Amino acid sequence: MDTIALIGLGASNALLLVELQKRGLIQNVDVLVFDSSDKEINDKTYCFWARPQEQIVLDLQELIFKSWNSVKVVDRVENLDQMNYYMVESRRLYQEAKSIIAQHANVNFINASIDAVQEVPDKVLLHSNGHGYLVDRIFDSRPGVIDEEIGATVWQSFKGWKIETAAAVFDERTFTLMDFEVAQDGGTQFMYVLPFRDNQAMIELTRFSNELLEDQRAEELLTQYCETLAERYTVVGMEQGTIPMTQDILVDQSHPRRISMGGRRGLIKATTGYAFKAMHEDARAVASTFGDQALSQSRKAPGKFTRFHFYDTLLLILLKFRPSWGKEIFTRLLVSQRASSVFTFLEERSSISWEVSMFARLPILKFLWSVGYLVLFKLRKHAWRFAPLLLTCVATVLQFYFPQHVLPVVGGVLLIMLFTVGIPHGALDAYLEKRSDRLSVFVLKYLGIMALALLVWWVTPVIALVAFIAYSAWHFGQTDLEEWEISSPVLSVVWGLMVMVLLLLPHWDEVLTVLGAIGIDAAKSVPAAPRAFLVMVEVLAFCLAVWQRSWKWLLTATTLLATSVLPLMIAFGVYFVLGHSVVGWRHLKVRQNWSTVQMWKRASPFTLGALLVFAVMLTTARVASLTEYFGTGMVFISALSLPHVVYMSVFYQKNSATLHGPRR
Ligand SMILES: Cc1cc2nc3c(=O)[nH]c(=O)nc-3n(C[C@H](O)[C@H](O)[C@H](O)COP(=O)(O)OP(=O)(O)OC[C@H]3O[C@@H](n4cnc5c(N)ncnc54)[C@H](O)[C@@H]3O)c2cc1C
Repeated sequence: MDTIALIGLGASNALLLVELQKRGLIQNVDVLVFDSSDKEINDKTYCFWARPQEQIVLDLQELIFKSWNSVKVVDRVENLDQMNYYMVESRRLYQEAKSIIAQHANVNFINASIDAVQEVPDKVLLHSNGHGYLVDRIFDSRPGVIDEEIGATVWQSFKGWKIETAAAVFDERTFTLMDFEVAQDGGTQFMYVLPFRDNQAMIELTRFSNELLEDQRAEELLTQYCETLAERYTVVGMEQGTIPMTQDILVDQSHPRRISMGGRRGLIKATTGYAFKAMHEDARAVASTFGDQALSQSRKAPGKFTRFHFYDTLLLILLKFRPSWGKEIFTRLLVSQRASSVFTFLEERSSISWEVSMFARLPILKFLWSVGYLVLFKLRKHAWRFAPLLLTCVATVLQFYFPQHVLPVVGGVLLIMLFTVGIPHGALDAYLEKRSDRLSVFVLKYLGIMALALLVWWVTPVIALVAFIAYSAWHFGQTDLEEWEISSPVLSVVWGLMVMVLLLLPHWDEVLTVLGAIGIDAAKSVPAAPRAFLVMVEVLAFCLAVWQRSWKWLLTATTLLATSVLPLMIAFGVYFVLGHSVVGWRHLKVRQNWSTVQMWKRASPFTLGALLVFAVMLTTARVASLTEYFGTGMVFISALSLPHVVYMSVFYQKNSATLHGPRR
């Protein structure tokens, strides 16, 4: 029987246990449940909204402590239509989970912290207090690692008082949502009032800010607020907590036996802190494929490319850099929309038309400011990615107004880049992995493969050409898809071939001249492909980019399309040097943890060698035009590329998961 470990008995893993019990799945596995806390206290209250017939309500009926059907927003009281707002006390959930543990001899609770998690062949080894536990799979709910992309993380910090009042002052059917009638203190602050009885309620002060709520200040504000509610009251309970409002939890999905849960899986909605309902849905999803070992591979992290993710990004930017705008934005939202519609939106189930009408009622200029911030941030961060398109635009303008300058100017830039990045990125192959061969043997092997490629060119240029196109397509496709973090060998080959088509077909006459220069006259009889074919490939390139939701792919496809009006040499140079080689260079830099200077130093002997061979080839080749020179250069590059493609292919297979560093 397999052994699984639940690390943490907080909300997500408690909900998982409840779900496994409901489905009768616990009998099939041994379960070890670890938590550093004994989970005896009520450390949180979980609120969520739902319709009474929704699964979460049916499943957790026994655990629900309180529900409300109407809500006070701004200055009106509103019925929640078909919905209720529910509350579950964490202690009750933990009790339920512990009673499930107590009922099963094969389930054990270990009140200890997990110090480290180690992957070993076919198992996971957990270290705790000097003991080791070997298990088949883990469901890990330890706090996740945040790698904030823009600015500092915004925190939702709150302090709640459970109060009892001398008089009956609350309507126990109505809770108060986001009351902004409190000092903002340079952040976005508001109160919740959750009445349990007509003289008992939880009053909760919440702050959205980079700076956490200070205890003393929170008590001052709670005191002031409670005094507006009741003349005499007593504080009988307290709740306090912080939730990171981030979209940048690093969700580790690289290992099928390590399954992230709850907050660690990024299930806490960044702009609200709500997660309970999402965790219940997730527990159901996990339980429904519980026996499936491939489960965690197929479980994708919450979508980064949805429109809701984008809205959240905009709001988070505002909360980070213009926190004082929060009050106006939330108040306008609550004034202009029914609370039940806002809940549907927060649950990411609203329609686009509703969202358009909602944004129209919000301070739209503030959101446009946020869009501007985001665009500038991304442009600055990804400036190098736009370099190929930028150079293409410059070349196109030159071509139009000063055609004689295109080759000297743009070609010159590309030539400099070829010898500073293009060839050096390949020249680092010798340092990629621990070599079993000595450097001299490695160089001999490398030169041997190159010589073989040159021999094939000499004996049978047609086969050499077809092979060159094939391995270039493989290598271009592999590098691009690695960069775009798309794992599909089929797509990689398809894209590589499409790159070759998009580079070569628009320049067919020049391609024939080049081929003629290297002795492939037979190509002259190959007619240019019909224009419709090229258009089809271009459309397909855009469709694939959209399908994969990859703006980087879209950018490359756009650049390739734009280069089709430029000379072949420039088009090829833009893609090969500014696109492909720069990407490859960056992959090496991240994975090998090298500095640029280190890379140049290491690459310099091989780069100089390559320069020398190139110079010899150019001076000895009998060529008449620049395009023909390109032919000679192409043969040289094809020979140089072959060993490089082989070594890089192995490099990508080994290092795919660690190429991008923590930030995507
Ligand atoms: C105070 C508070 C109130 C919230 N209220 C709501 C709400 O009303 N509605 C809502 O939808 N969401 C709410 N949330 C957000 C979210 O639902 C909770 O954060 C939820 O607890 C997340 O569940 P989890 O399982 O990921 O983490 P947790 O519930 O925090 O569970 C993690 C568990 O792992 C244990 N642990 C940590 N490290 C180790 C280790 N090394 N070894 C062993 N055990 C370890 C911890 O002790 C803990 O028990 C609230 C969050 C907070 C902080």
